[in-house]
Amino acid sequence: MSAPSQPPARTAAAAGPPGRSRAAWFAALAAGTADLHEPRRDDCPWCGSRRLRTRLRTGDLRHRTPGRFTVDACRECGHTFQNPRLTAQGLALHHGVPGPGLPATRRHHRSAAHAVRLRCPEPESWLDVGTGHADFPAAAREVLPYTSFDGLDPTPRVERARAAERVEEAFVGRLTDPHIRTLLRARYDVVSLFHQLEHAPDPRAELHAALHVLRPGGHLLVETTDPGSLLAVLLGRWWPPYDQPRRPHLPAPANLCAELGAQGCTVLAVDRAGHLPHDLAGALGTACLL
Ligand SMILES: [Zn+2]
Repeated sequence: MSAPSQPPARTAAAAGPPGRSRAAWFAALAAGTADLHEPRRDDCPWCGSRRLRTRLRTGDLRHRTPGRFTVDACRECGHTFQNPRLTAQGLALHHGVPGPGLPATRRHHRSAAHAVRLRCPEPESWLDVGTGHADFPAAAREVLPYTSFDGLDPTPRVERARAAERVEEAFVGRLTDPHIRTLLRARYDVVSLFHQLEHAPDPRAELHAALHVLRPGGHLLVETTDPGSLLAVLLGRWWPPYDQPRRPHLPAPANLCAELGAQGCTVLAVDRAGHLPHDLAGALGTACLL
């Protein structure tokens, strides 16, 4: 095992597609946002109910980019989502805006690794989805030194993380990409999804794809914000995890547990304690035993 490495240098270009400066992003957004939204939907994307309510309307409070965004909630299942949702083009544009993220601490990463170690003492293989610069694997290997951590990320950051020896293998793409599904099928003892479902176009499909790359008996660790938390209610649009327009979904933890059960999983633990300082909300840790 090599010594822990330093994170790759973070540049503005690293936060978005190469060659696009921050000024270029703002110029593209200022040209108009009409093509960046899908049609507004009148049913819940999770359960199909038409009993929706508008939870908030807000601008981009983090980067002050143009546009107004609406977040609806389902009265039946509690699923909370951006409506109308950004198109893939719109999501890519907003995800490319450089700026401060919502980082987890090293202590939090180690805590998550410890939680898995209680259930699965020595996993051989672990895939961290949306790993970015592989901050989580770099911290978790201190807790699980014999585990091989791979990283998946839609950006080339994961390749730089591999060059820095923070992950063993790097995959550029998304869990739902057909070539990723084929390549990684039933390969991992543990798959971690840290705040990935909020960004997925279809969180249920993302969850299914995560199960697809698990070995039989593998464990799935999911962490997401809870839109039903008291702070979300108290802070309204100022609750940081809404993070509009970058989070099209805020799945309800109960829905995720029910979906895992429907897929033949056993939910081993649910932790509703807040972890991330910027989250100010409950996080869900779910282990899944196939
Ligand atoms: Zn619903």
